[in-house]
Amino acid sequence: MNFADLGLAEPILRAVREQGYETPTPIQQQAIPMVLTGGDLLAGAQTGTGKTAGFTLPMLHRLMATHQPQAKRVVRALVLTPTRELAAQVEEQVRLYGKHLPLQSTVIFGGVGLGPQISRLRTGVDILVATPGRLLDIHQQRHLDLSKVEILVLDEADRMLDMGFIHDIKKVLALLPSTKQSLLFSATFSDEIKALADRLLKSPSLIEV
Ligand code: AMP
Repeated sequence: MNFADLGLAEPILRAVREQGYETPTPIQQQAIPMVLTGGDLLAGAQTGTGKTAGFTLPMLHRLMATHQPQAKRVVRALVLTPTRELAAQVEEQVRLYGKHLPLQSTVIFGGVGLGPQISRLRTGVDILVATPGRLLDIHQQRHLDLSKVEILVLDEADRMLDMGFIHDIKKVLALLPSTKQSLLFSATFSDEIKALADRLLKSPSLIEV
């Protein structure tokens, strides 16, 4: 199977080619067509499987399908990660695969000053990658509108729960519209993860690699 067979728009395929990727990984082969349908997804995948491109490429495609160049930018896709390192890596990939698209992204995480992150949000972003605690801080200070989120990704959800983020995640979920596409990625499936998936996902497709 080729990337070109997966239904992705040409500017996204071009970015993938420029990365030198030739063949989609197994998780990409399964996740990309599924995410493009707009349905929810529960995916069991470890780091190193290509899962980041697996959700980022179809997310970019879907955002572009309804992108309105004249509209004010609002956060339309939110990716939550357990750590600042992962948040930074994911946002780097969002920018890489989206480099031929007119979409803006940024990343927010704790441990650094709030000021620059708030300033960047003010300029308007379509895609936000964040760790849960800092996201809530910035939201509480009224610098963030999450009411227009169309796509939510929980990346490494098991690690987020291991790190004690379940309450923060629940608070974030309460800020999001109920009509949205939700994608949950986890390397392991504890009862706690299953409960979160039950609460969040509507008739999800299941993928395990
Ligand atoms: P991830 O599992 O998302 O952390 O990705 C692991 C690494 O695989 C990253 O460094 C990606 O740049 C790389 N990668 C992702 N998809 C592909 C692909 N289809 N072909 C080759 N490398 C890839």
